[in-house]
Amino acid sequence: MTIAKDELVSYDVDRVRADFAILSGTMRDHPLVYLDNAASGQKPRVVVEAERAVYENEYANVHRGLYQLSQRATERYETARRVVRRFINARHPHEIVFTRNATESINLVAASYGRNFLQAGDEIVLTELEHHSNIVPWQMLRDERGVVIKVVPIDGRGEVPVAALTRLIGPRTKLVALAHVSNVLGTILPVAEITRRAHDVGAKVLVDGAQAVMHLPVDVQDIDCDFYAFSGHKLYGPTGVGVLYAKEEVLDAMPPYQVGGQMIETVTFEKSTWAPLPRKFEAGTPPIAQAAGLAAAIHYVSTLGLKHIAEHEHQLLTRAYQRLSSVPGLTLYGTAPEKTAMVSFTLDCAHPHDIAQVLDTGGIAIRAGHHCAQPLMARLGVPATLRASFGLYNTLDEVDILADGLERAVKMFT
Ligand code: PMP
Repeated sequence: MTIAKDELVSYDVDRVRADFAILSGTMRDHPLVYLDNAASGQKPRVVVEAERAVYENEYANVHRGLYQLSQRATERYETARRVVRRFINARHPHEIVFTRNATESINLVAASYGRNFLQAGDEIVLTELEHHSNIVPWQMLRDERGVVIKVVPIDGRGEVPVAALTRLIGPRTKLVALAHVSNVLGTILPVAEITRRAHDVGAKVLVDGAQAVMHLPVDVQDIDCDFYAFSGHKLYGPTGVGVLYAKEEVLDAMPPYQVGGQMIETVTFEKSTWAPLPRKFEAGTPPIAQAAGLAAAIHYVSTLGLKHIAEHEHQLLTRAYQRLSSVPGLTLYGTAPEKTAMVSFTLDCAHPHDIAQVLDTGGIAIRAGHHCAQPLMARLGVPATLRASFGLYNTLDEVDILADGLERAVKMFT
C-alpha cells in the first residue's frame, strides 16, 4: 500500500496508476488504455503481493490442521471474512460466505433458498436490465418448480421506476432479485427503497452488487436486503473469489448448496450433520490465497476512499459525455442522473465489433457485445453496444484518447 489516508489531500491519479504494473505497459505499440473495468479490474501490487505472501509464507489448508501453519492460514482466511463484513457492514462475519464469484453466489441462493422455500405459483420479480447471472438461475427454478418470473420495465433513461416495481409486486411475490448497478447502463438502482416495498409484501430481496462495490459504499444493513452478491475480481481483487452476504436467520434456515468436506460436523453412512455458519456453505477447500487478495483489494479501495474514487470517476463520466456528444452518429444508452462511470453507445457507421477492433489497434480496450444482458439489448432495440467502463485509475486523457479514436473510426467507416 503506497497511499496512506492522511496523505490524501486530493485524488492523485498518477500515484494510483503507479500501483498497477500493467498500466505502464503498451498494447499494439501504444500505451494501454484499459476501459473494460466493468468486465474485470486490474490488480494493484498489494493484491498480487498479498496472494504471494500466502503462498510463500503462510500456505496450508484451512480449518483442518492442528499445526501452527494451518492455524495461521485459517486465521488469515477468517480475517479476510471480517474485512468483507466491515466493508459492507454486515452484522456478523458468519453472514459472509466465500464463493467463486457473483454468479455462484446467485446460483447458491437459487439452488438452496429457491428450491426449498419457493413453490409453484410463487413469483420472482426481476428487472429488464439484469445480467444473465441474475436471470438464468431463476429460469432454471421456474422450469423445475413452476415459479413465475415477472419483469419490471426500465424507462427511457435506463432507470427502474419504483412505481413500476410496486405495480408488479403483491402477495404472491416471494423474491425480488435485482442489480444494484446495471452493467450496461451504469444506472444505480434505489435498492433500499425497493427492499422496503418488497418487505411490505413479505418478499425477500437479493441484490446483485457485482457492479456496485467498486464504485459506491455499500451498507447491507442500511439497504436491509436479505442477500447481496459480488465478485472479487471487479473490485481489483483476484479471480476465483466472490461473496454472498445473507442475513443470519436466512442462512440458518437454508440447507447446504454443495456438500462434501469442510462443511460437515459429523458423517456416518446413515446421516450427516452440518457445520455452523458460514462453513455450511463452503464445501471443499476454499479460495485461501484469493481471500487474502480480496482483503488487500478492499483495504486498497477503502484507503483511497470510495467517496474520492466516486468523485474522480464522476469527472471521467462528465468528460466522456462532453466528448462523445460531438462524435457524429453516436447514440448513447443510459442517461440516468444516478449512475456510475460507464457509457454504452452505438455508432451509425459500423457494428460495435468493428469499432472495437479499430480502437484496439490504438491500444484502447473497450467492450463490444451484448454484455451478458440480451434481454436489455432487446429492450434497447440493438444486438450489441460498445461499452467504455471507467475505473479508479483512468484519466481524463484516456477519455480524450477514446473520443479521438472514435472520431478516427467514424472517418474510416464513412
Ligand atoms: N452481475 C452483474 C451485474 C455483472 O456485471 C456481472 C459480471 N459482468 C455478474 C453478475 C457476474 O459476475 P461474475 O462473472 O464475476 O460471476
